[in-house]
Amino acid sequence: MNELIMAKYGEIALKGLNKGTFEDILVKNIRRRLRHCGKFHYMRKQSTIYIEPVGECDLDEVIEKLKVIFGIGALQRCAVFEKDFEQIKSQGVPYLENALKNAKTFKVDAKRSDKSFPMKTPEIQAELGGAILEAYPHLSVDVHNPEITVMCEIRDKGAYVSAERIIGAGGMPVGSSGKALLLLSGGIDSPVAGYMMAKRGLIVDGIHFVSPPYTSERALMKVETLCEKLTSYCGDIRFYCVPFTEIQEALRDNCPEEFFTIIMRRLMVKIANIIAERNEYGALVTGESVGQVASQTLKAIQCTDAAAEYPVFRPVIGMDKKEIIDIARKIDTFETSTLPYEDCCTVFTPKHPKTRPVFDEVIKAEQSFDFAPLIEKAVEGTTVKLFRIESKEEQE
Ligand code: ATP
Ligand code: MG
Repeated sequence: MNELIMAKYGEIALKGLNKGTFEDILVKNIRRRLRHCGKFHYMRKQSTIYIEPVGECDLDEVIEKLKVIFGIGALQRCAVFEKDFEQIKSQGVPYLENALKNAKTFKVDAKRSDKSFPMKTPEIQAELGGAILEAYPHLSVDVHNPEITVMCEIRDKGAYVSAERIIGAGGMPVGSSGKALLLLSGGIDSPVAGYMMAKRGLIVDGIHFVSPPYTSERALMKVETLCEKLTSYCGDIRFYCVPFTEIQEALRDNCPEEFFTIIMRRLMVKIANIIAERNEYGALVTGESVGQVASQTLKAIQCTDAAAEYPVFRPVIGMDKKEIIDIARKIDTFETSTLPYEDCCTVFTPKHPKTRPVFDEVIKAEQSFDFAPLIEKAVEGTTVKLFRIESKEEQE
């Protein structure tokens, strides 16, 4: 008996004429993610990608990898049969043993997209349900709230039986919505912000500002680890590391302390603008959340936004810290994010930052020094690294 995995579309299913483009990207992303797991035959039909192993492979491992690919709404591990009800029953019922042996209730959900199949949907459900009850007498049918839903689909190419519907990562396939540059700090919020925008189909690359010797090599390594972890969701990530020390020192020496953080944020954005322009990014992403710290009040955000030449996406803007942390744990960035290394934002932090900076005053303070040459120098000194998805495996 053969098994395969059906990856059912999430939102792509709702797309009209350009659905094919989204599907192409999704299949490409899946192929890439599964490249170390074996050989597969791929087929697309009826808002589903059929992933059929060719030869040996560990389907549990395959499912684990598929679970984090954006664009997939649900996954189903199925047994494949001829479109012959006797075969479906005689082999399908034993196939379900693992799923059913510890359950109490079930129902059969049949779908018949091949209308030439001689039995109608209710008939398939009743017959297969009856056979299951006979084989597993400890079960009872519950059509409203079953523990297990057994799926039996009669489609063009065959009949598929499954008892495992796994919720997929949802969202849109990475690469289907353009490219954004994530201002990635070592904190909790920005990796979560990157994950959330990748979920909307953006390619997310990272830009990070370092201020050695005030910030350490370990602090940078922490951010690189975050990048590596994010590749599981975002795919390959280009990581721009910007030397920010001279700018911060100039800021400390020339601008009023109370505006330090807000001007620093604007300078980060100005550098990100240039990198975005030179590398064709369409948006910036930050991990800001309203009210969290002094630089994240409405007035402060207005000041940062005014420095941006691209839309700034802040997907965690309306989230509580706890909600952000829950996601950070889910995507396994929390522990790394909470390692206690300094960030350039914590260097020269003002004792009394302005929580309601007046825009004109900020601009005036910023103009007390000509940052343009230092900005250009920082851009020139920026290094780029590529973090490849599952690069560790590739190196083996
Ligand atoms: P995070 O947990 O993401 O660090 P935070 O609550 O610590 O956020 P801030 O330190 O005020 O908030 O930073 C706000 C945003 O500015 C971050 O989410 C990030 O997008 C960006 N940012 C801060 N520091 C850096 C840095 N060193 N390099 C790149 N981006 C940064
Ligand atoms: Mg931070």
